[in-house]
Amino acid sequence: MNGFSKRLTRKEALTNLLVLPALAGALAFGMTTTARADSRTQLKYQATPKGNQKCSGCSLFTAGKTPTADGTCKVITGPISPNGWCTAFSQRSS
Ligand code: SF4
Repeated sequence: MNGFSKRLTRKEALTNLLVLPALAGALAFGMTTTARADSRTQLKYQATPKGNQKCSGCSLFTAGKTPTADGTCKVITGPISPNGWCTAFSQRSS
């Protein structure tokens, strides 16, 4: 192994040390986003209540700025209507 190959090997090693964790993080983030986006369909999200169950009464819902504004959900991405519902509904304890 000559001096050039040794430096190249060290450079590659350093590059891998810096790039691989970043790549792994990006892939994990992408998978999480994709999984959450897919969950809207898988969990049969609808923008209307099902009986007396609705997102505003679900423990996975975070309300928007006003009671009628869209909020967010821990399992589905994007805006979530407080009057929505999905199969992951979990009654909020009072
Ligand atoms: S889990 Fe379902 S019911 Fe609960 S807040 Fe999210 S979308 Fe609404």
